Amino acid sequence: MFANLPVLIIYTGGTIGMVPGRFGLEPGTDFEPRLRDSLASLPPARRASLPDFDVIETDHPIDSSAATPTEWQVIASLLATHYSKYRGFVVLHGTDTLAWTASSLAYQLQGIDKPVVLSGAMAPLESPGSDALSNIEDALRFSADTALQEVGLCFAGRLLRGVRSRKWSTHDADAFISPNYPVLGEIVEHQAIVYANRGLDALQRGAPRFELPDYRGLGDSPVVRMTLWPGISADRIARWLDDETTKGALLEVWGGGNIPDDPQLIGVLAKAVGEGKLVAAISQCPEGSIAFGAYAAGNALAEADVVSGDGMTPEATMTKMVHLLALPLPDDQRRSRFSASLVGER
Ligand code: ASP
Repeated sequence: MFANLPVLIIYTGGTIGMVPGRFGLEPGTDFEPRLRDSLASLPPARRASLPDFDVIETDHPIDSSAATPTEWQVIASLLATHYSKYRGFVVLHGTDTLAWTASSLAYQLQGIDKPVVLSGAMAPLESPGSDALSNIEDALRFSADTALQEVGLCFAGRLLRGVRSRKWSTHDADAFISPNYPVLGEIVEHQAIVYANRGLDALQRGAPRFELPDYRGLGDSPVVRMTLWPGISADRIARWLDDETTKGALLEVWGGGNIPDDPQLIGVLAKAVGEGKLVAAISQCPEGSIAFGAYAAGNALAEADVVSGDGMTPEATMTKMVHLLALPLPDDQRRSRFSASLVGER
């Protein structure tokens, strides 16, 4: 249906487009001619099998370590604006917060019927031996595959569900993992293979449901993230939860869903929930999920009405909380949407 349309590449910064600067690598601009030059080095048959594409870049390409919810929203808005004119999209982005942006985009662009593929690189495009060109080539191939109808993250020849992905290595070219969900696809002999029955295409019904609420209305840091450590006191948690700018809190608890046996801590959590704050828990273990109540030490979370994040990644959970808090929802609907799978994140 869209097969004769080109792909849109949105360059947002990151190592992939960096150039040497006075203090080290810094985000470069004018990405399109640089990319077209590099692509000219590919064998002609491979180049010819890539989809046609246009390139735009954000106003100020950044190191993704500087990204905030506002940047997530700028990218989602660009995708929404150009949605009908392209068959698919590639978003080039720094790897440091790539999984965060991928997760956020999935919540903002629900029900999409075209591919949105994020990628980046561990070395700049013009560096010898860089992974940049192959990642872009792979991302372009996935972005032209109509079987893909969701936000994916393409890296080192594999396609992961964006909202399930995590950066796992500071140095390996194969830097991303999807701990609780199988890969969506792979590149085999320069062809994109999207595995059947793993994508969201089966759930796709009707028109896309973009949700682009203004994240800036939430303030700078509406959701706090607290990783429990042995000896943590209820007072410390209370200091963050009592702050009136805190609208949500993600607790990273132990194992299958356990916290210290401390009635004061339960009181602090229950008070925050009672004040309408969205308080959620996930495990500190990268793999697996949590269930409250298997142990007495976890039952207290249920008593305090903390919501379970199941097996969601920290990135998927935090961006989901930011998203739901930005929507004008009553507390109970916000909690029930948090507990549902909106885009295959849990
Ligand atoms: N600091 C860089 C960024 O996230 C790292 C990278 O792209 O690999 O923008």
